[in-house]
Amino acid sequence: MNAISKPSIGNGAYRIVDHTYDVVVVGAGGAGLRATFGMGASGLKTACITKVFPTRSHTVAAQGGVGAALGNMGEDDWRWHMYDTVKGSDWLGDQDAIEYMCREAIPAIIELEHFGVPFSRTEDGKIYQRPFGGHMQDYGKTPAMRACAAADRTGHAILHTLYQQALKANCEFFVEYIALDLIMDDEGVCRGVTAWCLEDGSLHRFRAQSVVLATGGYGRAYFSCTSAHTCTGDGGGMALRAGLPLQDNEFVQFHPTGIYGSGCLVTEGARGEGGYLTNSEGERFMERYAPTAKDLASRDVVSRAMSVEIREGRGVGPLKDHIHLHLEHLGADLLHERLPGISETAKIFAGVDVTKEPIPMLPTVHYNMGGIPTNIHTEVLNPTPGDQDRVVRGLMAVGEAACVSVHGANRLGTNSLLDLVVFGRAAAHRAAETIKPGATQAPLPPGAGEASFARFDKIRHTKGSSTVSDVRLQMQRTMQEHAAVFRTTELLAEGVKKMNKVAAGYEDIKIADRSLIWNSDLLEALELDNLIGNALTTVVGADARKESRGAHAHEDFPDRDDQNWMKHTLAWVDDKRNVKLDYRDVKMRTLTNEVQVFPPKARVY
Ligand SMILES: Cc1cc2nc3c(=O)[nH]c(=O)nc-3n(C[C@H](O)[C@H](O)[C@H](O)COP(=O)(O)OP(=O)(O)OC[C@H]3O[C@@H](n4cnc5c(N)ncnc54)[C@H](O)[C@@H]3O)c2cc1C
Repeated sequence: MNAISKPSIGNGAYRIVDHTYDVVVVGAGGAGLRATFGMGASGLKTACITKVFPTRSHTVAAQGGVGAALGNMGEDDWRWHMYDTVKGSDWLGDQDAIEYMCREAIPAIIELEHFGVPFSRTEDGKIYQRPFGGHMQDYGKTPAMRACAAADRTGHAILHTLYQQALKANCEFFVEYIALDLIMDDEGVCRGVTAWCLEDGSLHRFRAQSVVLATGGYGRAYFSCTSAHTCTGDGGGMALRAGLPLQDNEFVQFHPTGIYGSGCLVTEGARGEGGYLTNSEGERFMERYAPTAKDLASRDVVSRAMSVEIREGRGVGPLKDHIHLHLEHLGADLLHERLPGISETAKIFAGVDVTKEPIPMLPTVHYNMGGIPTNIHTEVLNPTPGDQDRVVRGLMAVGEAACVSVHGANRLGTNSLLDLVVFGRAAAHRAAETIKPGATQAPLPPGAGEASFARFDKIRHTKGSSTVSDVRLQMQRTMQEHAAVFRTTELLAEGVKKMNKVAAGYEDIKIADRSLIWNSDLLEALELDNLIGNALTTVVGADARKESRGAHAHEDFPDRDDQNWMKHTLAWVDDKRNVKLDYRDVKMRTLTNEVQVFPPKARVY
């Protein structure tokens, strides 16, 4: 039932459509779909808004697996998984959330199996599990087989299954709709969300008892990232504009071998087979940085060494801004047999024949540990000095967009897919407990959505002098140079200055296309606005943090400083794009001695 309301913006040029749902989920990746389906299945009228078709979300690219201590292929225990995750987080992860994730991993994965995820199988028919970096048995002793895998297409398998389940549960999808802003009332309660439909140019107001942000990461703030072009941190941008903070954005995980330019991932397996890196002098520089492990040193070490080589003028290419990965010495037969996927990716994305030439490489953003702060029920937090756990009513966040802080300062492989399904499920549980299906909702506050549509209209008609792509490129280069793997006091301070300039430059963008239908120029301008908020909080948070922890390795403060810095960063951005920082305690107490893990109510979904 959609009522057409009177257009109030742009002299009636807009068609504005109103909708009412019990819950509206923004995003149809693994996190959004798990929440959507669970909510629909528990009888809530559920809408899912997504800017790309659900099964095109970045989750589809995840290959390796999803972690859960099922113990199908050797002994395992969720406590060992928890230990590894706390350690991997470099003690910045919230231990109640980590306990919740590692315990609930087991039922959440079995549920996925029952929903139809085609996991690979062991001989006796159980879910196949493979080892993965950082996952150990017996509190760090020997490698564990914990990554549940569907061949090398785990994300793909999960996403398709969840989409089918969501359709079965009668959830309604709004595909190629761009969520613009949260609708907040005077008391700071979230009442809904505004959106723009790319297909027919209409604007929408979704009223809901609860909104769930599941918009994924913001890898595209950097020049090189492994994530999809759609990963522009829209949920973070929406939260910031609603006056809410982002947490721990300075922690960004890099992968050493992304293809220069496109960022496409080249797996560690390429170096495992004997590939090696060289600088402009043809030197195998990893021998200097890690004499024993050399090119197979950990991701952080290799990424940092590559950055140092580039910074010291030994990068390759006309701009001396990347590094070479050699595979040609391995011979065509071996490459064809063991690395066919990489050979193809290098051909498509770098135009390189790996049997003859090296592949251009750059350390590449792989994952954003930070995001919208939540508690273990996925309720968004807006902490105050007196109440660090203050909940924003009517708003939840899940997946890479959120920071329930299970990854802390660094994420273990396979723990992101797990985060999606465990907390997507937790959001559905919470909604089922707190929301009454079909409850009458108060009218939206007067003028709801007007500020959002006015912002949209202003950007659509902006007539400045720079293109969106110019400003975006400046941001991406700034972030890649000043807030990547190599961080010093000077570099970060300069990065803050440059990012402030980039942010100011946004006011001078021009939009060439004024139409409303499939206007990608306007869409990219809206995405850039969101990226800038995420980028500013990242570099300002990193500049302030005078220690090294997890992915934040600071040359001038090489040690972890638990005395002063075992705390979460909170960053707000005002309408002049000034960043305000505050901090919040890490939860060091585990769940078992803090809150009840499993509420007594029996759960079906
Ligand atoms: C190449 C690659 C390989 C990976 N491999 C693994 C792995 O093996 N194991 C693992 O655990 N993790 C892996 N990860 C990490 C993991 O895949 C991601 O962190 C995770 O998939 C993010 O899921 P998500 O649901 O939060 O967001 P996404 O899957 O990114 O989905 C975001 C959704 O939000 C929607 N959206 C965004 N903005 C808007 C807006 N304004 N309006 C409407 N809709 C919007 C999009 O349409 C999309 O549906 C990998 C990541 C990459 C990039």
